[in-house]
Amino acid sequence: MRADLTLCATCGVEAADPLPSVCPICEDERQFVPGGGQAWTTTGELAESGRQVVLEEAEPGLHSLRVQPRTGIGQTCYLVTTASGNVLFDVPPYLDDEAVAAVAGLGGIDAIVASHPHMYGLQVAWSEAFAGARIFVARRDRAWVQRTSPHLTEFDDDAEAVPGVRVRRVGGHFPGSCVLAFEGRDGALVLLGSDSISPVARDGWVTFMRSFPNYLPLSARAVRGIASRIADLPVERIYGSFGQRTRQGGARAIAESAERYAEWVSGVHDDRVGHD
Ligand SMILES: [Zn+2]
Ligand SMILES: [Zn+2]
Repeated sequence: MRADLTLCATCGVEAADPLPSVCPICEDERQFVPGGGQAWTTTGELAESGRQVVLEEAEPGLHSLRVQPRTGIGQTCYLVTTASGNVLFDVPPYLDDEAVAAVAGLGGIDAIVASHPHMYGLQVAWSEAFAGARIFVARRDRAWVQRTSPHLTEFDDDAEAVPGVRVRRVGGHFPGSCVLAFEGRDGALVLLGSDSISPVARDGWVTFMRSFPNYLPLSARAVRGIASRIADLPVERIYGSFGQRTRQGGARAIAESAERYAEWVSGVHDDRVGHD
């Protein structure tokens, strides 16, 4: 595996060549450049520091992938394995021969879908490690791609990553933010919500944000728009970017949470905060 790939140490996204002075993804208001300034790292440095990709079965047909110790944003990525092909949803900011062998043991990767630019990780390197797996990129977010590849495939609102695994653009966090939906082995519809539809601590609640690290909310119109874009899907389980999950009633959780959020950001409940 190449040791010389450069990535942003803060967001973990593979860097453009030539290297910019500041990572554009971190400079954006949804992320941050650390107080100490822009830092880059390489796959070689990460390997020397003992990084590894840890795979765990989340449920039959779904494995989580996390880089340990925590790297970049610290996201949980997912590998969906089906009889018609495998999809990597959100991309680890690291890979090595052991990770490639472990994923190959699960049938490899046919398609890569990053939900939005924070999760591009090393998507080109992962694609190259799996015979040029197709990389789906939302057309509306195309300008955020730092390292291009002949294997990039742009999509607008809907795509099929492999037969039966649907990509749906919901917008919100990024205009091109998308989620992945597929039928679990028990027949229930599973949604990978990433930063678009994010399970929270309270059971049956999810949230939506323009920025998680900087706590920037979305508007009422935006969150209702997200919910309406997947209102046709009978979602049961939802998995988020940080290992959190909704175990049942996902569609209802999304609809109710969107409405609650829209009411709060619209001032409907300002009597509860002393500003009625
Ligand atoms: Zn960055
Ligand atoms: Zn994000």
